[in-house]
Amino acid sequence: MQRPIMSSLPSTERILEHLSVGIALFEAHTWRFLTADTVFESLLDPQWQQGRARGHPFRDVFSETQASDIEACFCQVVEKGCHMTLTWPLFQSRLDTATSWLWELRPLHNSSGQIDQVLVTASPMTMQIMRQRQAVIAAMRERLRHTPQESALLAQAEVDTLHTFYHPLALAVYAPLQAYQNVTLLATRTTLQQEDVAHMPPQLPLDSQGVFFKAAHERTPVLIDVAHSLEDTQNREERWWLTLPKARHVLCVPLWCRDQWEGMLVAAFEEDAQAIEMHVQTLMEGGSELAEELVHARCVQELEEARRRVSKILDYLPEGILLVEATTGKIRYANTIAAQVLGRPREDLVNHSLNEWTWRRGTDHQQLMEWNFAVIYALSGKALTSQECLVNKPDGRTAIILCSAAPLYNTAGGLVEAVLVFQDITAHKSLEQQKNEFFAMANHELRTPLTSIIGYAELLRLQTAHEPASSFQQEALGHILEEGDHLTRLIQDLQEVSSLDYAQLKLTIGTHDLRDLVVQQVQIVAEQTKTHTFRLLLDDVNPTQALWGRVDAQRIKQIIRNVLSNAIKYSAFGTEITVGIHAFRDARGIPYDAEIRIRDQGIGIAAHDLPHIFQRFYRASSLDAATSGFGVGLYLTHALVERHGGKIRVESQEGQGSTFFILLPLLRDQYSN
Ligand code: ADP
Repeated sequence: MQRPIMSSLPSTERILEHLSVGIALFEAHTWRFLTADTVFESLLDPQWQQGRARGHPFRDVFSETQASDIEACFCQVVEKGCHMTLTWPLFQSRLDTATSWLWELRPLHNSSGQIDQVLVTASPMTMQIMRQRQAVIAAMRERLRHTPQESALLAQAEVDTLHTFYHPLALAVYAPLQAYQNVTLLATRTTLQQEDVAHMPPQLPLDSQGVFFKAAHERTPVLIDVAHSLEDTQNREERWWLTLPKARHVLCVPLWCRDQWEGMLVAAFEEDAQAIEMHVQTLMEGGSELAEELVHARCVQELEEARRRVSKILDYLPEGILLVEATTGKIRYANTIAAQVLGRPREDLVNHSLNEWTWRRGTDHQQLMEWNFAVIYALSGKALTSQECLVNKPDGRTAIILCSAAPLYNTAGGLVEAVLVFQDITAHKSLEQQKNEFFAMANHELRTPLTSIIGYAELLRLQTAHEPASSFQQEALGHILEEGDHLTRLIQDLQEVSSLDYAQLKLTIGTHDLRDLVVQQVQIVAEQTKTHTFRLLLDDVNPTQALWGRVDAQRIKQIIRNVLSNAIKYSAFGTEITVGIHAFRDARGIPYDAEIRIRDQGIGIAAHDLPHIFQRFYRASSLDAATSGFGVGLYLTHALVERHGGKIRVESQEGQGSTFFILLPLLRDQYSN
């Protein structure tokens, strides 16, 4: 192939043959092909290849639309004598990786200084752009990972990349940062000189009459012909473009990602509309890529902010919180309290594996499991609530925590983490222990003298059979024995409360007739109590038919006695106390539950006290100080009923009396036989 301009340089020609760059030379004014290399020819139709285009004006060689685009650019290069770069997306070539080409047009001057030829170099650029852009963005991303202004830097990367390939007067990205009232400059790159007012405005109003609004609303790029269409404009946004020196056209490309408007890519050009149209497609592609990245960056930022907010909140919580990763068993998060309770600084917890924790048995609290077992339990997919666990601190001290642990799943249902929420109850526990120790001691210390008081009173009463005593002495003895009995029961209750806490309350279960147990106990109490009248209501219960239950007979009597003694204590002399027994039956008439209802006409319980009366040491706030009691009777009764698989509840109104309902399950087999 002949290459006239390079014929004197055969070695250069050989080098050029192996380049992937296309070269062509055109005659200025006539626009005829002078020569082209094989790469450039590959952009032409086959009929014009192998030197056949030589001598033909490019109007013959290119299609009509291509030809008029090329002519517009050539005219500018020749008229202004300037170098021009443009992207050419229209050609397919033998270099199948490239779908667009970067054309550079250079005017060549003859010996008298006039432009007589135009040199065109065409380099395949999609891959180039892609690689470069990807590299820039990847590098940016890496850098941005740790900075809060991700979107601004991403926008800058895009602007810089686009600027490498076109040299518009100015390129900028605006984003609606403040409630869509105006748009703020995120990034800019300009070729304007300092004295030409080199900067794009930091903010532009988002005006419903303005170009930004129009482009964003219609989701399509808008090209402004600055010189012709804006002269008389009163619009604040548009007026600004008039102040941009040399700008003949401004292209606004809206940045849309799915349903989210992320802002605007703005490019100001010196060239005329035809030359710019060739850039629109590429700018739109760059814009949509940027929009996606901005959305991504914003999501990352929002997530990061949410994470920071949540961890701030967690940091201030009065409970310890740990998050442990399922795959590695490493602690991913620990708040300040967690570090305090576990006795290690946060750095020694976060990113450390659970296995690094020394597994050893505490000597003081053998019965408690260690806290890391609670986490392992959750990591195996099970939740755990209000469990007391042991913490062995590195300094040798121990703590007791009340903790809940739960597995956390991702949306696909995979177990990703376990969370442990806990509070230090060591102080509370030791106080409780002291209290229990006190009860045990008080029980022992009080019981011994009380036994002798009651013993001597019994002896005295025996003596009165032989030596008549005055009625006062008789009455006094009766009081001593009655109160002694009461005191014995109180001490017994206190002791049982401490046994309850140690899970030592034992039941001696047997098959008993509940109806009989209740009737017996009511009769005993009624005989001993002269101050109130008692009524038994065997509602729906045949007096001869037993209500069999698997129960501890003594405990059932204790339950009835406790509730009855309250009914006596909290109601006025002479009033009536009713005890009813109701049997719940199935369709065949077989009883499955028995309900004992004890009603008094006493002082009642205020609504605000009702939810608390089964709690330990709780006594109604309105009680006068003279009413004896420790507030443990109902606590114990409640525990005993529950141990029997039953339920206890109360209905009451202040001043209107109270009714206690005790529901106990019956033994159904006994009736089926
Ligand atoms: P206490 O030794 O104070 O009687 P309990 O545990 O038996 O303790 O009862 C707890 C509290 O419930 C009592 O202090 C009292 O305020 C209230 N209470 C229990 N039974 C009745 C009742 N029949 N009528 C009114 N108040 C009652």
